[in-house]
Amino acid sequence: MQFVDLKSQYRHLKSSIDTRIHAVLDHGQYILGPEVKELESKLAARAGAKYCIGCASGTDALLLALLALNVKAGDEVITSAFTFFATGEMIALIGAKPVFVDIDPVTYNIDAAAIEAAITPRTKAIMPVSLYGQPAAMDEINDIAAKHNLPVIEDAAQSFGSLYKGRHSGNLSTIGCTSFFPSKPLGCYGDGGACFTNDDALAEYMLELRNHGQQGRYHHTSIGINGRLDTIQAAVLLAKLEVFDNELLARNEVADQYSAALHEAIPVPQVTPDNTSAWAQYTIEVDDREQLAARLQQAGIPTAVHYPAPLHKQPIFAEANGGLSLPHSERAAERVISLPMHPYLEPGEIQKVANAVKGALAESRK
Ligand SMILES: *Cc1c(COP(=O)(O)O)cnc(C)c1O
Repeated sequence: MQFVDLKSQYRHLKSSIDTRIHAVLDHGQYILGPEVKELESKLAARAGAKYCIGCASGTDALLLALLALNVKAGDEVITSAFTFFATGEMIALIGAKPVFVDIDPVTYNIDAAAIEAAITPRTKAIMPVSLYGQPAAMDEINDIAAKHNLPVIEDAAQSFGSLYKGRHSGNLSTIGCTSFFPSKPLGCYGDGGACFTNDDALAEYMLELRNHGQQGRYHHTSIGINGRLDTIQAAVLLAKLEVFDNELLARNEVADQYSAALHEAIPVPQVTPDNTSAWAQYTIEVDDREQLAARLQQAGIPTAVHYPAPLHKQPIFAEANGGLSLPHSERAAERVISLPMHPYLEPGEIQKVANAVKGALAESRK
């Protein structure tokens, strides 16, 4: 069994993916070819956003958003302590200070009620993360941001495809950033990402920043990056976008089957009434994660930990956050474990995983 089965997906989509890739090989416009624009307009339409700017990774999407909002050295950006490293990393890379806030232990997303206390005169932006596939409490976050005149960047790397009060993750804030890393709900065959916005000036600036700060060929008006989305990756994404809604349904079915089989044995993941989830991960909490992982491995079932340490405890951030205690993030990091999750899991495989989880839990309670 695979944790994320990209080979099964390719077998299902082979002819459309091959056709799309061969079209690029035939026209030869590998950098910013027509597929990039086609993808950007389809993604923008899907999200209901005015603009989508394709870029080289989810990490670059975060960097482009921070650069476009003019976040600089010495500024502070409020974010979740419980996320993939890139969220805090890009804030720190530009010399700003990531200010880590604890999570809501039910959704694992930033605790909106804890944000205001973290705002200082140096705060330049709020960067919530929509973890495991469901959006953060964006209305609450946007209200606090508006009150303090701050922009909001949603890290939607795991949540593209999900809805918050009927609106699309990625298009819930000043700028939304997503990732097309192969194992994300919408993934390409390498690195890729995108930014979404409804702001004309920000969109224009991010287009410029992703291509060396160029306004026209060899006319550089700002300091940017080489952060373009490859045409071949856009081609792969165009083929996968055709089936994305079906895959989201399949992911929801997998999650429902896991929860039906597990809910009597263990608390199962909760999606709030405001949200749908793209189910980037199906993540549970257990007392003895090592034991569960070992038992599942013996049964041929891979697991993963997202993530084993909150960012304020990562070596590079630990010193600056020595006295910081964020108990929900710390507890989650010690207890979470993710089960195989992809749209091509068979009901028999889901049952096998659930049975193995229940067996391991029963054993550990003896
Ligand atoms: C995957 C991920 C990123 C980074 O995306 P890449 O495409 O791998 O650079 C950023 N934030 C979160 C929450 C992620 O899950």
